[in-house]
Amino acid sequence: DFDTAAIRQLDSAHFLHPFTDHGSLAEKGARVMVRGEGIYLWDSEGHKILDGMSGLWCVNVGYGRTSISQAVYRQMETLPFYNSFFNTTNVPAVTLAAQLAQLAPAPFKHVFFTSSGSEANDTNVRLVRRYWDLLGHPERHTIIGRVNGYHGSTMAGASLGGMAGMHAQGGLPIPGIVHIGQPNYAEAPKGMTEAEFGIVAAGWLEQKILELGPDKVAAFIGEPVQGAGGVIIPPPTYWPEIQRICDKYDVLLIADEVITGFGRLGTWFGSELMQIQPDLITFAKGVTSGYVPLGGVLVGSRVAHVLIEKGGEFNHGFTYSGHPVACAAALENLRIIQDEQLVNAVAVDTGPYLKQKFASLSDHPLVGHADSLGFVAGLNLVRKKAEHLHDCVPFDQALHVGMICRGYMFANGIIMRAVGDRMIVAPPLVMTQAQVDEMVDRIRQSLDDTLAD
Ligand code: PLP
Repeated sequence: DFDTAAIRQLDSAHFLHPFTDHGSLAEKGARVMVRGEGIYLWDSEGHKILDGMSGLWCVNVGYGRTSISQAVYRQMETLPFYNSFFNTTNVPAVTLAAQLAQLAPAPFKHVFFTSSGSEANDTNVRLVRRYWDLLGHPERHTIIGRVNGYHGSTMAGASLGGMAGMHAQGGLPIPGIVHIGQPNYAEAPKGMTEAEFGIVAAGWLEQKILELGPDKVAAFIGEPVQGAGGVIIPPPTYWPEIQRICDKYDVLLIADEVITGFGRLGTWFGSELMQIQPDLITFAKGVTSGYVPLGGVLVGSRVAHVLIEKGGEFNHGFTYSGHPVACAAALENLRIIQDEQLVNAVAVDTGPYLKQKFASLSDHPLVGHADSLGFVAGLNLVRKKAEHLHDCVPFDQALHVGMICRGYMFANGIIMRAVGDRMIVAPPLVMTQAQVDEMVDRIRQSLDDTLAD
């Protein structure tokens, strides 16, 4: 038992939070989360909240899974830690690496473990540069990312990402990382079809490669569906065209599947759905459903072959690479996803149901457009609706309508994230149809409240 006011005071006095304005934190006090069960959270004041965001897009199997805590406990009792440097290994890490290789879109045989998505993307930067060095092309060092992409918060992760606010703090991006536009159909020229826009947006990659010179470009990185950028679902023509361009210029393709991995889109990996075969896949979050930090890179045979055959030592790694406790949590989490057939549920049952229910929100006077794919969904709040999203009139950004709406969501017992005026969800994969109904009802109520404000 504790006193919420006292915790809030200690919090604002000592805890420097990520992505938080501490002025407003001190004023309002942090929300103290104390418990989770299934798709629900409880805060210290007894509010029960439906977690529409799976924490930070990660609690795929839902909260309160005792079989994961037991697996973690057993591993801690047996071997709480040992490193994987210098020719040592451990059973959970090996077992997990082999399982991930099986689950991944072929041909992936190797896994490099980290503790987070950011570290995994830093690893990608070093891997692709090492790859080209080993092939005798040290000049092929430039990596192309996308505006509004999110690839983490380390120096390389934040540089690969295309968040202007992050670049502005700390002099990013680091050298050798450049960006192209995002495939956001909402920003497409009027009259262009979605299919046409997909090809145009992918063409920006080709333009950038030609501008830099193909012999300077190491890799392209993108999220199959941009998450933190606002659930930007690309036109179906986009990714196959990106693949074609990467193949044409021999540029490595990195899919950042930190959000889209482990069932989020109704496939084990988003790359399957987008019909691409990346050379490297970043994963984290859903691999353990967030119960214990774990991330990594699935290394395709093209890169692994060069690294192993020509490589010598790869001078890179983390104390916690292949942490036995994190890997034990992942193994149990993957067992749950498999045994409960959660990926299939999102593909054929709850995913299509969410799509239908979310689309029904587009009749609301505030909603300009609502879309979803698998278990990610978003809706655009607009001042004036129109038949086509391109003709809707947006709100003045200074009004922060998204943030206001988020406040009503929370008051109505649902967590939804606001990216500007786009409201997004990424619910736990265990959500049932009845719970989708409950979520969408609460969203509608919150939209009504926002409209009345
Ligand atoms: N890549 C993507 C696509 C992400 O969404 C995130 C986190 O939200 C990351 C990388 C960074 O992962 P982490 O926060 O575990 O470092």
